[in-house]
Amino acid sequence: MFQRAREDERFRQSHLDSIKLDGTYIHKALYDGRSPRSEERIPMETKSNKFLPHGYFLTMVYPSSYESSWIQREDDFLSILVDHEGAHSRQLHFLGNIISNETILEYGAYGYQLYAIRNGIREVSAEFLEELEKRFEYYQTMHRNICGLSNLARAGLTKFSKY
Ligand SMILES: [Zn+2]
Repeated sequence: MFQRAREDERFRQSHLDSIKLDGTYIHKALYDGRSPRSEERIPMETKSNKFLPHGYFLTMVYPSSYESSWIQREDDFLSILVDHEGAHSRQLHFLGNIISNETILEYGAYGYQLYAIRNGIREVSAEFLEELEKRFEYYQTMHRNICGLSNLARAGLTKFSKY
């Protein structure tokens, strides 16, 4: 079904409708073929929508989800939709706007993708894993920098409180 949707845009919404989104707070995955944001970096996006049930979100799926060379297998696709965007839907559901830092949210979502792969839940292609590890490392480094900064801030505060 995924391969047919890759080849023919008309099958993309029915492909999305066939995917079980259990364990996520994605109300619906919606294909948006007209989106100008069809660059490879952002294949999908999860957002709130006032017409959805409270605590549920909409995942927009852009053409690059079906057309990028690094997204080859159905499990590559499910890794992004169910694991990554599913993680974002849980972040939105449970945290709302408490944490809005992109690095922290992406680090969590990419980490969850790797967790599912390492635990045999997803069997992704080598190309996909390579791209995923690159992205995870980027956010891991950024995340360390943030923690480093907060440690500095804490050290500063401790020093200040002595006076
Ligand atoms: Zn993300």
